[in-house]
Formats: sequence, structure tokens, C-alpha cells
Amino acid sequence: MVEDIFCRIIKGEIKADFVYNDKDFVAIKDINPQAPIHFLIIPKKHIEGIDKIKPTDVNLLGKIFIIAEKIAKKEKISKGYRLILNEGEHSGKVVPHLHIHFIGGKKLGAKIVN
Ligand code: 5GP
Repeated sequence: MVEDIFCRIIKGEIKADFVYNDKDFVAIKDINPQAPIHFLIIPKKHIEGIDKIKPTDVNLLGKIFIIAEKIAKKEKISKGYRLILNEGEHSGKVVPHLHIHFIGGKKLGAKIVN
């Protein structure tokens, strides 16, 4: 299995600011935040990207939405947030380990694509 930066953070080999941790997922603060709140929700299981998701991963990945709401409550984010998943070259994805960007802390622009 390829060791990417998120695998190493999950193993504790590289430091990160954790905002959530359970048996299946972590959420950490992005090292280069694009908004006042910018977390990454990451499955502990190494799934490289959407094209590598198996039918047996679907229950696991459905938890992302539950976790996003837990984080919003814990971090007192009452005015909403945006979840973003980059996949493939055109998206600008750089880390080959499935992850969701949790963005908030200000009124976000109406446009998702620019
Ligand atoms: P992608 O473009 O792959 O969807 O996003 C990867 C994100 O991971 C980027 O927003 C980048 O700032 C973040 N990132 C990359 N390396 C590290 C790291 O070592 N620690 C943390 N906390 N975030 C990282």
C-alpha cells in the first residue's frame, strides 16, 4: 500500500491539529487554510480516490455527513459550511487519499466553480 501524508498523520508519524478522531475517521485542520475554518475529514482506511471506492465502503463513507454535523456542533459552526471533494487532475487534487474539505467560518461565495 502506498503511504501518503494522510496515512502518516493518522499513524501519528506526522503532527496535525485534530478536531475529530474515531475508529474510522479523523478530521484535521488544513495546513494551508482557504477560509477561517478549513478542516479535512479523512477515512482511516486508505482509499485513494472515488474510483477506488468499493460497494463495501459505502456504509463507511456515509458517515462523513454525520461527522460533518458533529464537527459543526463541536466547533459551534451555526451558520453553515461547504463540503468539497477533489478528484483527479482537473480538480487540483494533490493528496492521493480520499478526503473531504470542510470549509466555513465566513459567508462563502455563491459560485462553486470559478
Ligand atoms: P486536495 O487538493 O488533495 O483535495 O487537498 C489536499 C489538502 O491537504 C490541501 O488543502 C493541503 O493544504 C492539505 N495538506 C497537505 N499536506 C498537509 C499536511 O501535512 N498537513 C495538513 N494538516 N494538511 C495538509
